[in-house]
Amino acid sequence: MIVAMGANAVQQVSPVGLAHSEDVHYRHIEIGGVQIGTGLPCQLIGGPCTVDNKIGDVAINLKKLGVNMIRGGCWKPRSNPCSFPGFGEKGVRWLLEAARDNDMGAVFLEVMESEHINIVRTIRDEVGYTGRIVLWVGARTQNTILLRKLGEQKEFAVMLKNGLDDTGIDDLVARAEWVLARQSVWDDEGQLVTNKSLTPGNDQVILCLRGTRKTDRHSKWRFTPNHCWAETIHQEWGAPVAIDPSHSAGNEQLVLYNVQEALKYKPALLMVEGGYSENGYKGLCDMSQSLSIKNMQAVIEMIANHNKSVYS
Ligand code: PEP
Ligand code: MN
Repeated sequence: MIVAMGANAVQQVSPVGLAHSEDVHYRHIEIGGVQIGTGLPCQLIGGPCTVDNKIGDVAINLKKLGVNMIRGGCWKPRSNPCSFPGFGEKGVRWLLEAARDNDMGAVFLEVMESEHINIVRTIRDEVGYTGRIVLWVGARTQNTILLRKLGEQKEFAVMLKNGLDDTGIDDLVARAEWVLARQSVWDDEGQLVTNKSLTPGNDQVILCLRGTRKTDRHSKWRFTPNHCWAETIHQEWGAPVAIDPSHSAGNEQLVLYNVQEALKYKPALLMVEGGYSENGYKGLCDMSQSLSIKNMQAVIEMIANHNKSVYS
């Protein structure tokens, strides 16, 4: 497989398994006008779990706090057909309009299948949003055709969340390889045509740690935090690391604690749900973990203090 997580990593072709570079070079990616990656200050992505018709207010609130990157789900993978699935294309339009009107440098949005990439592209052009778009693949989406398609294009950066049942960083890196390797060509004997295969795909890949399925039902966590995987990614793979402290926490107080814990692992990005106006409304999904403006402000201060003590 391709060893492409480090910017200058040696490429190796191997029919089985992963290999990694002895010589890790950290990949830095430009997102929203700033470089992100290992050794660079942590940046915050804020916004709701699911985009709804209040997304404009959220964008205004975040911008006032100095947040330049907004997130929102428009297609939500759900565990039962009666759960709200997101507003789809309408949600993408609302999100990109809100980002355009509030001069957001970057938008993070979740894609579940290949056709979503084209939909986002078309709506971006119609809306005229000119910032950076990062397409993320969520913890419940196991779709290698989508990963290939994300590898074939380079206009959108890609963020891969670890799967709920991933047992370690290798599972997440294996998924990243589909994006990095772009295509595999097989001859009529079923042999891999190596000179036509594993051509470099999209290397603008961020790995996001969002917690794994918990095994103890008495645990205070919603999912078991896996921030410590960042250490292996930093040591061996060189890709920018995002940490999502919201989904493993599940409630506002634990999110705040979890942000502080996450910062110890020096992530390039923190993705934190919240930002609605203070009128009691907390969105359509993941309400209990959605941070109030006041708590979002507290997160911003934690990140600022962290960046000051580590990077200045
Ligand atoms: C989300 O970010 O809102 C989300 C659904 O995340 P995950 O795929 O990690 O559960
Ligand atoms: Mn969510």
